[in-house]
Amino acid sequence: MKKTPNDNEFAKLLAEKQLDSANAHLAGIIDSASAGDVEKAIAADCGRYSLKRLATMLSPMAENYLESMAQKSMQITRQRFGSTVQLYAPLYVSNYCVNSCSYCAFSTQSSPDRIRLSIARACAEADIIAGEGFRHILLVSGEDSKFIDVDYLVKLAERLRSKFSSISIEIYPMSSSDYAKLFTAGIDGIAVYQETYDRSDYAKFHQAGPKSDFDWRLSTLSRAGQAGFRSLGLGFLIGLSDWRTQTLAMAEHADFLMKRYWQGRISFSFPRMRPAENVAQEMFGHMVTDSQLSQIMMALRLCFPDSEIVLSTRESANFRDNMSRICVTRVSAGSKTNPGGYGTEQGALKQFEIDDDRDAKDVAAALKAKGLEAVWKDWDSAFAK
Ligand code: SF4
Repeated sequence: MKKTPNDNEFAKLLAEKQLDSANAHLAGIIDSASAGDVEKAIAADCGRYSLKRLATMLSPMAENYLESMAQKSMQITRQRFGSTVQLYAPLYVSNYCVNSCSYCAFSTQSSPDRIRLSIARACAEADIIAGEGFRHILLVSGEDSKFIDVDYLVKLAERLRSKFSSISIEIYPMSSSDYAKLFTAGIDGIAVYQETYDRSDYAKFHQAGPKSDFDWRLSTLSRAGQAGFRSLGLGFLIGLSDWRTQTLAMAEHADFLMKRYWQGRISFSFPRMRPAENVAQEMFGHMVTDSQLSQIMMALRLCFPDSEIVLSTRESANFRDNMSRICVTRVSAGSKTNPGGYGTEQGALKQFEIDDDRDAKDVAAALKAKGLEAVWKDWDSAFAK
């Protein structure tokens, strides 16, 4: 049995607030927000989160107040994080996957060109990443539990610990006991995107494989929090469902986790659908503009002043540089989205095409030009001892 009695706690809360389906009440708040409501929501105390406040700042009316939101977001971000932006690099260790997510090139339905990195090859890739200056690495894999299992991750983390001050994972959901082993081995950050908090949309895009279990995925960050992970990363895949409702559901998830796993810091990521091999973009009816994405990020910053806001190379250089000035606190750089992409396997299947293809030094230079300092390490585990 993979489930534990507490696993469904957040699922129940989500259902009570009708955030796992269409919600006419919230849609009413969003659609009817007046100029006065938006002004009051923006002026509220920094860090005061409520569903209503966030919904108001996500409203169509709030689109007229993006400059005010940007000014306040910038002020809060500089107060809490200084003029720094952390850099990290993803290391893809396998593009095998048993799932069939209809938006992903690694889906079991698509291309047969698969690669798994042995520990030695993964370390060679990591050496290239470390050589570029990174001290924060994110291990990424499809759901390939036959090869990328706990033993593999423990061995890899033990080899990487001396080179990286922080190791995070973005792989398939695991049990609390497995997370405890990874944490002991030196992995202290995790990102697990729910993709969509809407149950019916989730079922539509995840028809087979272990990932079709909505509740198991939904409770993953609670299990990681129980194991002691200090960075808990949330996100939804922008394009699958209504972005306003999804932002509200993700915020409720963050609020739930912060109250229970206070040792961990929440991070929000904003994966937007990107072109990928064998994936038809027309399937996705909820794409957002740059302006709407900035509205999401700034509204979250005003409600969650201490949370990390992460923007990957899925986004354009211009958008990333501008949002780093306003509210982003962590960016990837020089990313390869295929296993072996930094070294000898540059032709292997990529998960998606990146937009910002600048190398890490160019990203750091662009941040400097905006008055920001690139920080190459997330934190130092020595501080926790
Ligand atoms: S999104 Fe993740 S789980 Fe789904 S097919 Fe891609 S790699 Fe596999």
